[in-house]
Amino acid sequence: MQLGYRELHPAAKPPNWRPMAVRRIRQLGDPMLRLRCERVQNPKSAATRLVADDLRDSLAVARKKYKMGRALAAPQIGAPVRIVFVQMDKQRWTMINPEITDVGPDDFLVWDDCFSFPNLLVRVNRAYQITVSYTDPKGKQHTMELEGPMAELLQHEIDHLDGILALDRASGVDPFAFRSEWEKVHEAGERHGPPKPREV
Ligand SMILES: [Zn+2]
Repeated sequence: MQLGYRELHPAAKPPNWRPMAVRRIRQLGDPMLRLRCERVQNPKSAATRLVADDLRDSLAVARKKYKMGRALAAPQIGAPVRIVFVQMDKQRWTMINPEITDVGPDDFLVWDDCFSFPNLLVRVNRAYQITVSYTDPKGKQHTMELEGPMAELLQHEIDHLDGILALDRASGVDPFAFRSEWEKVHEAGERHGPPKPREV
């Protein structure tokens, strides 16, 4: 598929002219969430910057609205390209063409959530340690070793780029809960289980 962001948003003006652009976050059932996204050919292009800026602005608004969230993937705002934007505390990363290049020996259970189904929690099994490589908007290549919450976050976001949702990875008995019900019977700290050697 050759859909560029400009084709998706023909009214978009060059980046310097644009005010804050908050995009609607696509919700469960929207076919956009099921596409396998295209690799970004030019990380330094204006089109790439447009998507990265919109992810940043859309995440900022969604975090305020839902009081949660650390990242957004481009298909969630209607751009089927391989870009993820992460904000943890005050640090931000725009990850272009992110890839998991290595996985450690442990898994852990996570009660995962997603802006595309914000009221639902899903128990999933994720690798506890991963190595991720990506390109930044200046075109520089990076490799990061991540563990725990940051590792599961990137697995969730990179899944989005392949049209995979946390729901598809539901694990164990009774893996779904509405957030409001989950909060009645669990503490916030129970969102992440301890690391355990992977069962093969
Ligand atoms: Zn998500």
